Amino acid sequence: MMNQEIDLNLTLSLGESVNVGMGGGEPEREKEREWTEEEIQKIVIIQRAIKRYLERFEKKIDRRRTRDAIAMELYETEKSYGKSLNSIINRYYGPMEENKFLSKNSLNTIFMNVTQIFELNLEMTSKLQLKIGEWGKYSTIGDIFLYMTPYLALYKDYCGGYHHSISKLEEKRDAYPKLSQFLDQNFMETGVQLASLLIQPIQRIPRYKLLLEQMLKNTEEDHKDHELVAKALEGIEGVATYVNESVRERQSMEKILELKKKLTGDVPNLFLVEKRIFHIEGVLGKVCRKTTKNRTFFLFSDILIYAVKMENSPIAEQYKFHRAIDLFKASIIDVPDKPGMEHGFQLLSKTKSFTLLAENFIDKQKWMGAIRTVINDYRERHGDCSTSGVGGTQDDEDDGSAPAPVWIPDGDAKTCMLCPVKFTTFNRRHHCRRCGKLVCGACSGKSYHLENLGKTARVCDNCYTELSGEEKERDKSMASFPNDSKKDKSKRQTTSVTGLSFFGKKKRDDDDDSPDSPPPSPRPPPLAPPGMSNNTNPGASPPPGAPPPPPPPPAKRNKPGPVRNTSFPSNAPPSRPPPPGSAPT
Ligand SMILES: [Zn+2]
Ligand SMILES: [Zn+2]
Repeated sequence: MMNQEIDLNLTLSLGESVNVGMGGGEPEREKEREWTEEEIQKIVIIQRAIKRYLERFEKKIDRRRTRDAIAMELYETEKSYGKSLNSIINRYYGPMEENKFLSKNSLNTIFMNVTQIFELNLEMTSKLQLKIGEWGKYSTIGDIFLYMTPYLALYKDYCGGYHHSISKLEEKRDAYPKLSQFLDQNFMETGVQLASLLIQPIQRIPRYKLLLEQMLKNTEEDHKDHELVAKALEGIEGVATYVNESVRERQSMEKILELKKKLTGDVPNLFLVEKRIFHIEGVLGKVCRKTTKNRTFFLFSDILIYAVKMENSPIAEQYKFHRAIDLFKASIIDVPDKPGMEHGFQLLSKTKSFTLLAENFIDKQKWMGAIRTVINDYRERHGDCSTSGVGGTQDDEDDGSAPAPVWIPDGDAKTCMLCPVKFTTFNRRHHCRRCGKLVCGACSGKSYHLENLGKTARVCDNCYTELSGEEKERDKSMASFPNDSKKDKSKRQTTSVTGLSFFGKKKRDDDDDSPDSPPPSPRPPPLAPPGMSNNTNPGASPPPGAPPPPPPPPAKRNKPGPVRNTSFPSNAPPSRPPPPGSAPT
């Protein structure tokens, strides 16, 4: 207030003088009050200095008031936290020990070290009470929390056992009606469940962190407390991170368990990867061959699962599992809005790529941000894998395979994208598995082994020419550097770091309204599974006792070469010799 008044006065007097100076033809006595330029400048400088000083002064007072309030809050919340701990021990732990409802072991599992935590709380409360009693400008509070630092391990132990504690409590409550009755009785009297009391130590740590952060922000750097609070905060932050992580892990575990119950169909083992963290879930439109379909997506720290919600399911919220996409080295691309395709983005992964449409701009930002974070973190976690490969494989090189293409929707092309042929009921659309283009049967008569899919698949003529050209080039360069062949081979056999690559190898390309007609017979024919003949006609199988059928045709080419199948077991022979008299294809 005072600050503003001074400000106003100075401005008024300055304003007057400037007017007088510029007016020129004013009476003589007015001219006596005229200011020189130099004086005006001096006044402006003084004015600014006063303003700055007052602002700083007010801020200082504000900060000190905030400090007082935070100290008070630390004390008050510590007191009420103590009441909860007291309730755990005197309303539950003690009586349950006396009643002998449960064994000593079970009680230890449920109540863990809560008695020690309560003791620590009592000490903290009395220390805080003393401080608050004589609280002043120079008081410190960081020292109390520094005193607590060595005991913070109690909270780590508590947090580590919390999950077991809650499940043990539920298990025993279901098993013993007397215990159940006892718990219900206490709930009726206090209005608080034991489980809500048991979680309080876990919630206390983030609270300490928040309040001490505020305290540090509002403590002058030359105040004794500044260093003390900063040090205490360091200790708390370590425990807070631990607590947060274990809470997240537990939530993810619960989410995965919940999802396991909700998903039906060919669901992969979601517990395959340890510490898989759940991020977000929601409905997105997935652009499919004919239309956009709503799918429910579940984003984890390494995979993106999508499923379709089953209508009229007898069990509430049931989903049919479609696919789990390994997000290692996946990427997302923003798709500019166009009519009928709003709030879209593309997900590109090795095994499957597609366009997704969010409901609105905010939803799109949320999903893109979340997926991007997961991809980056995943890359960071496994960064060592890509650089420690044989011969120091470059990060972006990996096994040299590009992501799967985004399939061009059926409605986007009325004619083959390579030749003028029109698509009809008989002349059907096919998707090239390498570039995603819509092509006719004649332009996609060949198939090729695609590294990203780990299998042989339909490709268009353009892609076939490109791929076989690349291969010739590679063979040529390998012939001139024979020592490199081993390195190249091992690189080609790299499998996914998570071992999840099989997720993409579903027989059916889900979400395709009308799947392509059976892929053209690969040229050369595919490798038959071990112990089985390539002959698919059961009537033509040789009679018992007949000599075994001739060995199957070569895996890929007639001359032996490196195996290109990424999922081929490394101890198996790299290729088979050509059958006698086989004609070149
Ligand atoms: Zn064509
Ligand atoms: Zn193609």
